[in-house]
Amino acid sequence: MIVAVVVLTVLGSALGLLLSLAARYLQVPGNPLGEEILQLLPGVNCGQCGYPGCGGAVEALVAGIAPPTLCPPGGPTLARALAARLGRTLGVADDQPLLLAEIDESRCIGCAHCGKRCPTDAILGAPRQIHAVFQEACMGCGLCVEVCPTECLQLRPPTPTLSTWCWPKPALAGG
Ligand code: SF4
Ligand code: SF4
Repeated sequence: MIVAVVVLTVLGSALGLLLSLAARYLQVPGNPLGEEILQLLPGVNCGQCGYPGCGGAVEALVAGIAPPTLCPPGGPTLARALAARLGRTLGVADDQPLLLAEIDESRCIGCAHCGKRCPTDAILGAPRQIHAVFQEACMGCGLCVEVCPTECLQLRPPTPTLSTWCWPKPALAGG
């Protein structure tokens, strides 16, 4: 009996040692870029990007087959961070004044084409209902404008708020 216990203990220790050595020396190094991208994503594995969880989205981003706008819950902040980290563009010029989508509700027919196209889930509304843009989530890519059949969706300067309003720039003398 004692011999069996000793043999099993020695065997278990030897196998444990082997496993820890294998984990240390046979480890496949992870992709540091992928791990960094994973840290940026919300990590809720909601699947709204069309990939099986955030891990699948990371693989597609690193492989360059998914756009930085793939994650609706991350919104424009995450899209900009992903584009900067991956060295890609969002199709929105940095040197132009920011324009955001706005819907003329009197002409919206509720076709819902815009909501399906928006990469950041910034458009609110149900089929056959008037739609509206949640401007905090809009990054001004203009994709929704292209699909609106009534042209009631336009990119416009954002409505000033108490925190964004500023005096207009003075006109240049002689200009
Ligand atoms: S411009 Fe339109 S498609 Fe692009 S983020 Fe704004 S609402 Fe969405
Ligand atoms: S695409 Fe245009 S008409 Fe259709 S729901 Fe959006 S804003 Fe309304």
